[in-house]
Amino acid sequence: MPRDPIVVIGAGVTGLTTAICLAEAGLPVRVVSKDEPRHTLSRAAGAAWSIYLVDEHDDRPLRWGGETFRELERLSGLEESGIRMRSGLEAHRVMVPEPRWAGVVRDFRADETGLPEGFAVGWRYTMPVTHMPAYLGYLASRLRQAGVHVELSTVDSLGSVAAETIVNCSGVGARSLVPDEGVEGIQGQLVVVENPGIESFFLEDASEWSELTYFMPHGDTVALGGSAVAYQGNLSPDPEITAGILARCAAIEPKLAGAQVVEQRVGVRPVRPSVRVEKSTVDGRTIIHNYGHGGSGVTLSWGCAREVLSLVVD
Ligand SMILES: Cc1cc2nc3c(=O)[nH]c(=O)nc-3n(C[C@H](O)[C@H](O)[C@H](O)COP(=O)(O)OP(=O)(O)OC[C@H]3O[C@@H](n4cnc5c(N)ncnc54)[C@H](O)[C@@H]3O)c2cc1C
Repeated sequence: MPRDPIVVIGAGVTGLTTAICLAEAGLPVRVVSKDEPRHTLSRAAGAAWSIYLVDEHDDRPLRWGGETFRELERLSGLEESGIRMRSGLEAHRVMVPEPRWAGVVRDFRADETGLPEGFAVGWRYTMPVTHMPAYLGYLASRLRQAGVHVELSTVDSLGSVAAETIVNCSGVGARSLVPDEGVEGIQGQLVVVENPGIESFFLEDASEWSELTYFMPHGDTVALGGSAVAYQGNLSPDPEITAGILARCAAIEPKLAGAQVVEQRVGVRPVRPSVRVEKSTVDGRTIIHNYGHGGSGVTLSWGCAREVLSLVVD
């Protein structure tokens, strides 16, 4: 068990959750991040419980996602967490088999009637929907209660960190920090509107990411998505993408037509062929990676964080 502080790099949803798991297990922890938690790219997420990464040869995302679902469901009982359990519809334009995660969500049932026009199959279920600005605030405050404050600083290289154990939760930053060319930044945009009376979520799981359509109610507001384009270094909302999101969502839910826009959020998904949760030893120091969660970083957060804890104490 490490006695010197473990340095966690990153204070997005991955770094904060990981640091909480380590600190609440009684381990000494420091968190170093370029950005304050509420300004990390994690802020842009919608955020649905949604696994894109379930491949038939790798069961880990399903396990991580299941653990996270149960934890987010538990946290939905806390007002300040920003998480609420919501029922809704995920719909597909072509017939697809039942998902492998059907047993994880609540009240899952297939529905082929009562779908919006143009859809072939839908799945109705209940899941945790997370308001990220509130949730990042909750995680940062829970971490402070465990005695850990986020230190704002940029890490130039893993070798420059003075610690025997480093946990790398740098998201898309891992591309240059590790370095790992397998990490690709895929930018996404979200439009937040005043809630015209929507209680249920809608999610279209399109094979073409750039045409994702979803909306997630968060009380007074609704988060509408989405988009996916290669990150070019500019985090300003694109008016054309905004117009496309508003039009696609209004076509599914007419109440959204003309809804007042209150905010736009742009983030970058750290996409990688597989999530990297892995321990290695470099020059006698332990480096544990936890990055590359793509469009599922919230969905996998608690499962991956607990795996890091088990790798630390192993
Ligand atoms: C529009 C949009 C919608 C999304 N919707 C969902 C959803 O519905 N459900 C879901 O599960 N996921 C969703 N995602 C994906 C999710 O947001 C990401 O997977 C997740 O936020 C990644 O979190 P992270 O903590 O790994 O990375 P980040 O939030 O990017 O955090 C990285 C951290 O590392 C720090 N860092 C990086 N490099 C350095 C360095 N060199 N030195 C010091 N610090 C460094 C940063 O400052 C930051 O603190 C969405 C993403 C977008 C863009």
